[in-house]
Amino acid sequence: MKYQNEYRGKEEVRKILDELQRIVTREHSIMEICGGQTHTLVGYGLLDMLPKKITMIHGPGCPVCVTPISILDNAVELALEHDVTLFSFGDMLRIPGTSKSLLEARAEGGKVKAVYSPLEAVTYAEKNPNEEVVFLSIGFETTMPANAYAVDLAKKRGLENFSILVSHVLVPPAVEAVMSDPLTKVDALLAAGHVCTITGLSEYGPLVEKVKIPIVVTGFEPLDLLQGILMAVKQLEAGEIKLENQYGRVVKAEGNPAAMEVTRRVFEITDMEWRGLGVIPRSGLQLRPEYADFDASLRFSLDTCKIESESECIAADILKGIKKPPECPAFGTRCVPENPLGAPMVSNEGACSAYYQHAQMTSI
Ligand code: SF4
Repeated sequence: MKYQNEYRGKEEVRKILDELQRIVTREHSIMEICGGQTHTLVGYGLLDMLPKKITMIHGPGCPVCVTPISILDNAVELALEHDVTLFSFGDMLRIPGTSKSLLEARAEGGKVKAVYSPLEAVTYAEKNPNEEVVFLSIGFETTMPANAYAVDLAKKRGLENFSILVSHVLVPPAVEAVMSDPLTKVDALLAAGHVCTITGLSEYGPLVEKVKIPIVVTGFEPLDLLQGILMAVKQLEAGEIKLENQYGRVVKAEGNPAAMEVTRRVFEITDMEWRGLGVIPRSGLQLRPEYADFDASLRFSLDTCKIESESECIAADILKGIKKPPECPAFGTRCVPENPLGAPMVSNEGACSAYYQHAQMTSI
């Protein structure tokens, strides 16, 4: 607990807030990319403590929120119509698909299991050779290496009853897509430290050149976020545009080469549909041809081309930072965590969930 305490100290928080107040001379909009960063900003009340001239905008970095409905529908179909045992990270189970969630599919008799690691699915497949086992392989750069390793392991062990349903997404192309929307007004970005722990920083220098705003890589504790905001504001006030790394205690320039090696060996880059954002070129991963035997969409001939139309949920505007959750007419009324209309209210990393939980806490 030593480190958590150190990065949550009141005195340090006050010092940074005072410095921000002292140096900020004009309005700045700063987007934090990751839902984990959003939860810290909202949950610790930091949004209310920042100088009024600083506006935080919540970006698209919630993996559950951006996974397309078509993938959820495919997963439900696998569980209910193909007699598959479907493994998933727990936060995907309550996300509403077109007609039902995976939890509802389980209630109807589908074999749906929540796991912490894809390796649990590999082990299950090995012990149950007469069952078809599928792992729902979603997420950003953080989850890709473990999922790639699971496929590679299944191949080495000769498992013929294991496959994955893939919907992996990449942060830099999404940032470019969001920044290209004329309605998105962002002066600086806080990049997600856990993603950069895997990828390193090599893609983020060129990203700064493309989007032409400062990018600061941060951690997830209150002081991490405040230090990152301070670094971004210093750049903005000085008219600088560069990449900085606030999370140096974890993020190294070279990232995690072993994790990147297994990811690149198993997956290749492809165009990808993002829930709420549409198809973004070269923004996702698919299995390489040499691992095609482990592709559940091919094995079970799934329709993967459905583009959904959202209901009254304005998740697209939330994910692009154009609107804040309380601006959604359904927020806290027709849409609550127990009865979510969209993914940002279900996922623990979703911006709507963060705002709703914070509102509940502060009204007690
Ligand atoms: S409050 Fe609910 S309906 Fe509105 S944007 Fe968030 S998830 Fe969608």
